[in-house]
Amino acid sequence: MGYNIAIDGPAGAGKSTIARLTAKELGMIYIDTGAMYRAVACYFIANGLYADEQSALSACDNIDIDVVYEEDVQQIILNGENITLRLRDEAIGNMASKVAKIGCIREKLVDIQRGLAEKENVIMDGRDIGTRVLPDADIKIYLTAAVSVRAKRRYDELTAKNISCDIKEIEKDIENRDYEDMHRKISPLKKAEDAILLDTSDMDIRQVVDRIKEIYERVCKNG
Ligand code: C5P
Repeated sequence: MGYNIAIDGPAGAGKSTIARLTAKELGMIYIDTGAMYRAVACYFIANGLYADEQSALSACDNIDIDVVYEEDVQQIILNGENITLRLRDEAIGNMASKVAKIGCIREKLVDIQRGLAEKENVIMDGRDIGTRVLPDADIKIYLTAAVSVRAKRRYDELTAKNISCDIKEIEKDIENRDYEDMHRKISPLKKAEDAILLDTSDMDIRQVVDRIKEIYERVCKNG
């Protein structure tokens, strides 16, 4: 088993930005597990499937997901096609929350995620990393921020890319996604008992990365 840092938290808490930068600075590999649920969502949308158990069972047989790295950037290959650039769409995020409730899909993706963490030193982010995927992770962080702050961050991100959007709609989407992720039966989003809570509402990216690096130094020194 490599050295593992698990980062969980709700949508828009900044997990991927923080995890990517921290991984780069610590020389670890960043694994974005949300992208894997998004890839499955992409398959459902492309094939006009409803997010129900029956479609999921046949999808699980027909989906082949590969995670590869190009210049340290994670790429998701779905049935031989690199779909990474398509995954950030809000519609795909919403479908991802629906397919993520289905047991066979979670089992398939958790297997892939554990396989990746076995070989390398990784920082993995998602919703169930500290509670289910890597319960023995060396460090667990639960990253959160107020809904209004998360909505504003996503709004700024989209407008910077010239994508027009409505901040109230984004806030509603985030609230719905939080509700779906926290109330599902299987592996709901929650803070692992031994996770360190970081509320980033009043912190910038640099401060959060430095805080995680401090935790890493402390744990390494003691352990
Ligand atoms: O993090 P991201 O927004 O890309 O995740 C998309 C959706 O995938 C989440 O809303 C959540 O429902 C699901 N997910 C999950 N478990 C993970 C990662 C993501 O259920 N480990």
